[in-house]
Amino acid sequence: MDISTLTFLHEIFQEVQQKQDWRTALDTLFVSLRGSFIFDNVAIYLFDPKTKTPEVVYARAVGRGKTAEADAVWGEALSYEVLENGKMVLMDSKPDARQLGRLTSANLVGFPLYIGSKLSGALVFVRFGGPEYSELHIQIASLQAFWAAALIERRDLQEARAELDSVQRQMRLQDDFVSTISHELRTPLGFIKGYSTSLLRQDTTWDEATQREFLNIIDEEADRLTRLIEDMLESARLQSNTLQFKFSPVRIDALLRDVTVRMKTIHPDIQITLDLQPLPPVRGDAMRLSQVFDNLFTNAIKYAPGSEIIISVRSNGDKIRITITDRGEGIPAAYLPFIFERFYRVPGERTVTGTGLGLYICKQIVMAHHGNIWVESVMGEGTTFIIELSNAPMF
Ligand code: ADP
Repeated sequence: MDISTLTFLHEIFQEVQQKQDWRTALDTLFVSLRGSFIFDNVAIYLFDPKTKTPEVVYARAVGRGKTAEADAVWGEALSYEVLENGKMVLMDSKPDARQLGRLTSANLVGFPLYIGSKLSGALVFVRFGGPEYSELHIQIASLQAFWAAALIERRDLQEARAELDSVQRQMRLQDDFVSTISHELRTPLGFIKGYSTSLLRQDTTWDEATQREFLNIIDEEADRLTRLIEDMLESARLQSNTLQFKFSPVRIDALLRDVTVRMKTIHPDIQITLDLQPLPPVRGDAMRLSQVFDNLFTNAIKYAPGSEIIISVRSNGDKIRITITDRGEGIPAAYLPFIFERFYRVPGERTVTGTGLGLYICKQIVMAHHGNIWVESVMGEGTTFIIELSNAPMF
């Protein structure tokens, strides 16, 4: 082997290595060596333990037989053979093709892919219309097989790593949740117990006004407990997919108006600006959608105290877009990707109580409507939640 070949291989190695995405890395690998080893199509089959068959995970056509790219059926039989033997297999098909034209005769070569030390798949090349593979071609192709196996192993490791990260994050959130929830449950229970014990004391008599005040506190705290327990149950049902939805025609503008009136009754001081367009009904679960709007409203009141809340709804082609904006502090950009996760709460000093379930529930409900929900926030300017629902006539 001369120095120029080594330099050439070194350069390709570097280029392939730098590609983050495994498919792009494989593309680079096959394309850059095509000058030395000509083929028309290449496919990678990995053994699927569930179906017990080789499944195509990568296919690319670079030469004359472009139409063969889509299904990669051409290499399937050979991939079985490679997986059975664990060795390179050459297959020449020269049927009566000569009369039919060169593209119908095919030279195939397949190599085993060992991931770790386990035979896990096959890399198959096809060349239509010859010439047959030379010794050098086979060497280059087998080098590509080693490389491809390493790239797939890297892909598997990256995927496993991402899954692990997500499980770890979820576990951290669960831990935080346990401490949040015990605090959240204990606080209202503490009030209820404290005020009812006071009212029941034999040695003290309370005047009528004080009794009413205590009973009001007990009543409010019991409501808070109920809401909390409902949220927890709802989120558990959403996670196990057992929450029932009742779809019927829903007027979103009317629904938003109702939610606004309700909010105004509970919080008479908030300023709400409505920018509603009368819209035809959409297919939805009115109760669940109200729950979404209630949640977003309550969050705006909780996290942007004293701010104006602006609601708008617009028909946008085949979509309805609802926005709920506040002029609060905003959410730092680094936390935005997580706020719809179950139990997630933006870290930091907090005086506002919550469980991190509200936005998770909102997202699941919107998704059950085949809609979309996302957030845009600018620090110091405010936060907007955007919901898009399908406008398609369904009734
Ligand atoms: P919770 O309110 O119970 O903490 P949510 O799932 O409703 O849970 O919200 C998740 C987090 O997103 C909240 O903890 C809060 O930090 C942030 N958040 C939600 N809405 C707003 C808003 N309008 N402005 C600023 N932060 C918000």
